[in-house]
Amino acid sequence: MPSDELERLLAWVRERSPRRVLLQAPPGLTEVAREAARALGEMGVEVVVSGGMCWGGCDLALREAAELGCDAIVHVGHAEFVRSPSIPVFYLEHRYQNYEPVASLLPEMLKALEGYRRVGLGATVQYLDLLGRLAEDLRRAGHVVMIGRPSNHLRYSGQVLGCDYSTMTSLDGEVDAHLVLGSVFHGLGLALISRKEVFAADPHSQKVVPLRETAEKVLRKRYAQILAFRSCRRVGVVVSVKPGQRYFGLARWLVGLLRGRGLDAELVVVDEVRAEDLEGRYEALVNTACPRLSVEDQDRFRVPVLLPGEVMVALGLTSWEELLRRGFLSSYPQSWVMESWTSSALPESPSPSEV
Ligand code: SF4
Repeated sequence: MPSDELERLLAWVRERSPRRVLLQAPPGLTEVAREAARALGEMGVEVVVSGGMCWGGCDLALREAAELGCDAIVHVGHAEFVRSPSIPVFYLEHRYQNYEPVASLLPEMLKALEGYRRVGLGATVQYLDLLGRLAEDLRRAGHVVMIGRPSNHLRYSGQVLGCDYSTMTSLDGEVDAHLVLGSVFHGLGLALISRKEVFAADPHSQKVVPLRETAEKVLRKRYAQILAFRSCRRVGVVVSVKPGQRYFGLARWLVGLLRGRGLDAELVVVDEVRAEDLEGRYEALVNTACPRLSVEDQDRFRVPVLLPGEVMVALGLTSWEELLRRGFLSSYPQSWVMESWTSSALPESPSPSEV
C-alpha cells in the first residue's frame, strides 16, 4: 500500500484512539488488509477481521462492528459511499501509483479511440491518481479529454462505481466516446446507461474492450426478463440490510404498488441476495439492493430479478424507451420515484428520508 496512505491511517487512529477496530477488505486486497492489521496491532489496537464479502463502500459492516464493540472500521479498497455512518470509518482506498501498466496499455487505448476525438475519461478509485497523467498522454495524441466532476455517491472527479457513473454521463452530450480505466464490470455499467461507445481499459489484463455490443445484448436480456415478469403472481421484493443498499421505503412502496395490481407481493429482507436462499419461494423478485445483481447475477436465478425501473415497465407505467432514456441503472433508487414518474397511477411515494 502507498506509504502516505498508511501514514494517514495511523494518524487517524492516533487521533481517535480506538481500542478495537473491524477491518474489512475485498478478497483481492487481503495482503493490504494484513499490512494494515500489522500496523494497527503495533499501535496496540485490537483488530477483528471481517470474514464476510465486501462488495463496495455500500457494504459497511456496521452491524458486526457494533455487535463486537468495535470503535471504528477500516474499510479497504473503496471510497466513501455511506454518509454519516454510525461508527467512524477510515477508507483505505489503496490507490495505485505505478503508471507503467497504464503506459504499456496506451497504444491499445489509442487504437481503440481512433475516430473518437472527444473522450470522457473515468476510473475506479484505485486508478484515480493515474488519471491526470493518462489524460495528458491522450491529449498529446490529439484527443480532447474531459473528466467529470463528482456527484451522487462519487467523491472524486472522474471516479466511477458499478452503480454510479454521474461523472461520465454528465459529459455524454460533449464526448464521442468514454474510456473507463478499470475492469470490464465497470465499463459495462456505463455502456448500459450511456448511448456513446464505451471502452474499458484494464491495466491488470492489459486489454481494452469495447462494450456497446455487450451492453445491447444485456439490455435485450433484461427486456426478456420484464416480459417474463408479466406472467408472475408471487413476487418477493428484496430489501438489503447493507447500509448503502438499504432502501426500505422504496421496497415497501413497491410492495404496495404490486399489491395494488393484484400481485401477491412480500417484503423480503436479506444481507446477501442469493438464489439458493430465495428460489422456490417466489415466481419473481424485485431487487432494491445493488442494481448490478440484476445484471451480473440474473443467470444464477431461475426467476426474473427486476430493478425498480424495470417493474415500472412491466406494469406499463412507463416505456422501455423511457427507462433507457433515463438510464437503465439510474433506476437505482435515488430520485426517480419522487420525481416525474410519480403520478396518480402510483401509490403515495415514500418520503426522501424513507427511501
Ligand atoms: S455497484 Fe453495488 S456493490 Fe458496487 S457500490 Fe454500487 S451498490 Fe455497492
